[in-house]
This record gives sequence, structure tokens and C-alpha cells, in this order.
Amino acid sequence: MEAKFCMSCGHALENRDVDGTIRKACPVCSFVHWGNYSIGVGALVVRDGKVLLVRRAQEPGKGYWTNPGGYIEQLEPIEETVRREVLEEAGVEAVVTSVVALRDQPRNIHNVYIAFAMDYVSGEPEPDGVEVDAAGFFSLEEMEAMNVAGFTRWLVDIGLQSSPVGLNIDKEPVWEQIKGYGLFRALPAASG
Ligand SMILES: [Zn+2]
Repeated sequence: MEAKFCMSCGHALENRDVDGTIRKACPVCSFVHWGNYSIGVGALVVRDGKVLLVRRAQEPGKGYWTNPGGYIEQLEPIEETVRREVLEEAGVEAVVTSVVALRDQPRNIHNVYIAFAMDYVSGEPEPDGVEVDAAGFFSLEEMEAMNVAGFTRWLVDIGLQSSPVGLNIDKEPVWEQIKGYGLFRALPAASG
């Protein structure tokens, strides 16, 4: 579906050449419809060599076990979104340590999925009973007998690496002007 009206002021959009690409743009305000995108976030919470999984109670993927996650909100930092999703879906408190995987799906709605390694803090897995109907920490052996989604198996392999190297939250960016942005960066490899 193509945008017809300005999402900012409601005026009919026109075709405009923006740096060589024809895009829908508003002749009244500065709005340009760049495309249709969605961003998903997922959590890899590991405790004692077991990964936190939930069983989807709704489509898409009803009956499949996946890692907790969801879609980002307009004004919420993504590390907060993923923390909230883990708490809401599985009743577990965890904090982001790093970004460990990214999946890109360029299609009608271009989706980017970002997976976070998270440190377990507290709580025993408890499904929310709406989005998910079961939750728990599971070993690879236990997953053999479970209906685990293929994408989740890929993520579990990353989450269970002995010392995954990822992008870490950068609280002290070298350029002061960008302090306050959500910043994740690769850290230099440990020497020696
Ligand atoms: Zn407009």
C-alpha cells in the first residue's frame, strides 16, 4: 500500500525526485514518505546455560517457542523496549548487555530485527497468558523435543556462545555532542 496523504499535515502527497529517487512528498510541509519499515527487538536471556523461551499463544507463530521480544515504540529506547517485553511476556527482569545479532528482511514492509544479549536479574518465568501461554529456561537438549522456531534456534546458537562479542551500550561517547543518543559500539579486542 502506498501513502496518499501527508502523515504530518494531511495534505495530498505528490511525487518528488529526492536525490534521484521518486518519493511521495508533501508540497506543504517537509514530510517525505521514505518507505514502510518495522523494527523488532528480541532478548537472549541465559541462566545456567539455559535460554529463556516463551510459547506463542497468538498468530503469527502460534504454538512455537521463541525468545521474548516485540516491536519498538515511537519514543521508547530499544533497550527499554526489550527489557519491558521480557518482563511482560515472561515475568523475568533482565538488563541489556550487548547487541549480538541482526536480521534484515527487505520486503513490502522492510523489517530489521535486533537481538540483545541480556543479563538475568530476577524472577521465575511466568507467561502473561495472553501473548504467550508458557515460559521457561531451556537447555539445547530440552529444545530438541520442543517446537522451537527456526529463527529462534539460530539466535539460541548465538546466545549460548561462550563469550559473544557484540555491540555494547556506549555511555561515554568520544564526541560529547551525541551524548543522549542510543549508542551501541564495538569495543576494542582485549589485549594480551
Ligand atoms: Zn504535510
